[in-house]
Amino acid sequence: TERLHIVGGGMAGSEAAWQAAEAGIDVVIHEMRPKVGTFAHQTGNLAEMVCSNSFRSDDDEQNAVGLLHWEMRAANGLIMTTADAHRLPAGGALAVDRDPFAETVTAKLRAHPRVSVTGEEVTDLPADGQWIFATGPLTSPALGEAIRKETGADALAFFDAIAPIVYAESIDMSRAWMQSRYDKGETEEERTAYLNCPMDRDQYEAFIDALLAADKTEFHEGETAGYFDGCLPIEVMAERGRETLRHGPMKPVGLTNPHQPAVKPFAVVQLRRDNALGTLFNIVGFQTKMKYGAQTEVFRMIPGLENASFARLGGIHRNTFINSPTLLDSRMRLKSRPNIRFAGQITGVEGYVESAAMGLLAGRMAAAEMQGRSLPEVPQDSAMGALIHHITGGAEAKTFQPMNVNFGLFRPVDGLKGGRRGRKDRYKAYTDRAKAAWTEWLSHS
Ligand code: FAD
Repeated sequence: TERLHIVGGGMAGSEAAWQAAEAGIDVVIHEMRPKVGTFAHQTGNLAEMVCSNSFRSDDDEQNAVGLLHWEMRAANGLIMTTADAHRLPAGGALAVDRDPFAETVTAKLRAHPRVSVTGEEVTDLPADGQWIFATGPLTSPALGEAIRKETGADALAFFDAIAPIVYAESIDMSRAWMQSRYDKGETEEERTAYLNCPMDRDQYEAFIDALLAADKTEFHEGETAGYFDGCLPIEVMAERGRETLRHGPMKPVGLTNPHQPAVKPFAVVQLRRDNALGTLFNIVGFQTKMKYGAQTEVFRMIPGLENASFARLGGIHRNTFINSPTLLDSRMRLKSRPNIRFAGQITGVEGYVESAAMGLLAGRMAAAEMQGRSLPEVPQDSAMGALIHHITGGAEAKTFQPMNVNFGLFRPVDGLKGGRRGRKDRYKAYTDRAKAAWTEWLSHS
């Protein structure tokens, strides 16, 4: 019988292997460690957590990642049930005792009668057989090159340069306005693609001071080697000269502030719509290495963003990921090579939990296909569905950057209050709706 090959035994590959094996498929995991290492992994264990030991919030009623935990538990997810077994006290967060966690995942997979593990690096995309590539943010260079050959250079990134993403509903539209530079754009969609926040001279000077003074994080040792090609953080631009940003991403040209048509702004911060729903906006050109606390403080100095809430903050990391919205179909198959699926962080999700979640779906999808079973579409109202829909279709392909799960990816629930006041009820409505949709999907798959 045909076997499923999974390349990479990290968060996604381990979960995919478990799901497929539990569905009755024989699986081979090809994991290059410990023979070939990465700059961040320390062991030869499967599912090694490379940095923090947190799976973030475990609140499945008010938090999107907590909801994802719930959905993965309901699907008998190996990563979640093992995390629960090695939970450390951490308030509302799910912190994990990392070594026993990874050792248990490794032992459970090695003991599974349908799973075998080989220690080889895979360096090409095979023409035959069923494959899931889950090689993560630190995909080996040889395989990265093979993927680049298949997808084209524009569709594969080796770094993420993430600008902060703001919830549209938290932007103060009595200060900001919608307009594309020089009113470019033919369609309504193009004309509503940009929001603008004006600054006068004093606000700009204060903003530059804050950028220069803010706490920053450093790159990890070995992280930039041979790759980092000058996608500059805004604070580095500010260090090069106080006017640099005003002539770069904050240039005030081609825009008129309808709230004060007679006053020409000294600088303008632009935000661009980040998803088809129009619920998320990214701050254009604002990739940064500022620490998270500093980012919220500094970005709330921007007029219109005083009360901004952030779907994700900015960052720059070594990260191999493909342009999933253009390359993958809704079943995570490479459109040009449907015997190959991608899963995990390489598909443009971000984080341990999200990566494992995409492994869970890929494993189930591959198993169903190999067994000739039809699998209904993952419901968009579940956290799983919101995430896979975002990466395989909902996200803007041109500006695609890795995404955490968040409520901005969910379709609005009708008839609920907007804004901050209705938020608690809204999030509860999202999570109730998601649980029902996910339970229903599991019962048919
Ligand atoms: P991984 O877990 O990285 O697994 C990929 C596996 O593929 C690895 O075991 C690797 O050895 C193997 N592999 C790679 N290439 C090949 C090949 N050619 N052949 C065979 N095997 C191969 N996420 C968080 O949630 N919190 C954090 O604090 C955090 N910090 C991070 C810090 C750093 C420095 C990095 C790089 C990432 C961090 N992440 C963090 C992201 C996190 O690592 C990922 O979200 C998660 O591990 C991705 O799961 P994955 O299965 O896609 O990839």
